[in-house]
Amino acid sequence: MARYRDALCRLCRREGEKLFLKGDRCYTDKCAFERRKYPPGQHGTSRTKISDYGIQLREKQKVKRIYGVLERQFRRYFEEAQKKKGVTGELLLQFLELRLDNIVYRLGFAANRRQARQLVNHGHIKVNGKVVNIPSYRVKAGDMIEVKEESRKIPFIEENISKVEHRGVPTWLELSPQEFRGRVLNVPAREEIPLDVKESLIVELYSK
Ligand code: SF4
Repeated sequence: MARYRDALCRLCRREGEKLFLKGDRCYTDKCAFERRKYPPGQHGTSRTKISDYGIQLREKQKVKRIYGVLERQFRRYFEEAQKKKGVTGELLLQFLELRLDNIVYRLGFAANRRQARQLVNHGHIKVNGKVVNIPSYRVKAGDMIEVKEESRKIPFIEENISKVEHRGVPTWLELSPQEFRGRVLNVPAREEIPLDVKESLIVELYSK
């Protein structure tokens, strides 16, 4: 599957804010955005007035980049959200949050979503006792997600978990760090999703 392979920090600089794509480094003074708070490229420092369309587009790009999802798949999530009863923007974020790679990241098994995707791809993660190697797999309320027993020796996983214990997991997830296991307590409501985005702008953009 196609995937963005350029420098991740460029994405934060492009969006004009920290997207926390790299894990620990994002919280240090090595963060590229802290050093250069302007868009990458030759015209990065020149000022341009941004249109309403531009604002909506940037918000969509930001969310796509945070979750590491490409346009086609993102659009599919939107169309599915549109067909369902409820608030489209909130449903869109719920679908993204319930991706297995995101849950693995939120539970702290991985330092960032890219690493989480790798753990899933390489068969280190089980859902309800069975290995699932599809990062986009949609987890349900009540599902149990754990690191496969043989994979628990991977040094960085333990280190990641110890850090998330300190940072905390969202209220809709429950982590049992000693068991390398977590549970989805409920589908998150918008206020339970720790994401500073205006999803209504994405709905406006796609509804044109
Ligand atoms: Fe973004 Fe993290 Fe890179 Fe900073 S270190 S620019 S927050 S990906």
